[in-house]
Amino acid sequence: MTRSTRTHRRTRTLGLTAAAAASLLLLTACGGGSSDAGDAPEPVESASFEAGTTMAELSQAGAITIGTKFDQPGFGLVGLTDEPEGFDVEVGKGIAAQLGLSEDDITWVEAPSAQREDLITQGSVDMVIATYTINDTRKERITFAGPYYVAGQQIMVGANEDRLTGPDDLRANPDLKICSVNGSTPSENIREYLASPDQLVLFEVYDDCVTAMKNGQVQALTTDNVILTGYVAENEGEFKLVGEQFTEEPYGIGITKGDTAFCEFVNGALQTMSEDGSYEEAWTSTAGEYEGTEVPTLPTADPCV
Ligand code: GLU
Repeated sequence: MTRSTRTHRRTRTLGLTAAAAASLLLLTACGGGSSDAGDAPEPVESASFEAGTTMAELSQAGAITIGTKFDQPGFGLVGLTDEPEGFDVEVGKGIAAQLGLSEDDITWVEAPSAQREDLITQGSVDMVIATYTINDTRKERITFAGPYYVAGQQIMVGANEDRLTGPDDLRANPDLKICSVNGSTPSENIREYLASPDQLVLFEVYDDCVTAMKNGQVQALTTDNVILTGYVAENEGEFKLVGEQFTEEPYGIGITKGDTAFCEFVNGALQTMSEDGSYEEAWTSTAGEYEGTEVPTLPTADPCV
């Protein structure tokens, strides 16, 4: 039922000879594969940080590893270019730029929902930007900067499905199966609406839920509205959203627990992106291209503790 996780795509690219890698990267840049996404922000040239901080470490190394989703259109999706695209990806590039790093200095690692805290605690990534809801359980293991966006849980069904109009219809239709992914907040939030635990089908990544919807193994998919909006848009005429959003999902940027200075830096970087227009540009060139979406305002950051 699970798909193996793809990691270190960029690392694999960089494993080629430098010349081959350079021409590949150039191809990506000129090929226009990511032409929808805005130009990556220019790296800050004068970036300098107090010795011993994560910021100093990353900017001196000239490299950062970021965990994101690879199968969520609008937020983090690896398409034909072999490089992820989406709002989360653009936010990552904006933060990297303020460390003096260009988009070529970023290694992207796939961060499925259930693996995000592990990737951070094991030091496999420097940060996770992956439709990652801030909550207390997760805060036991990691620290969140942000929020940088607030989503809400909703339900997607087949275009002709009329039995489900929201979570409250699940109990009356015990034969209908609903899909979500392991380690996600929606997979927990939906439980109180189920006729029985069997009604919920869990995979590791949302792509597998979309496939299960297409082959009739499940009749609904629940996760954040903005993720579902991407699937509706990318599968024309096949799916629709039903009901209102029934939770609030503030998206944070996961970093090593207790790295308060880095958390404050990330919050400052988000604030700068909001002031210089790159936050809005990150949105409009990605998730904001889908119908029915609105340009968000950067939410007030939570205190870094
Ligand atoms: N925002 C929710 C979460 O963090 C759902 C999206 C996801 O699984 O990435 O669990």
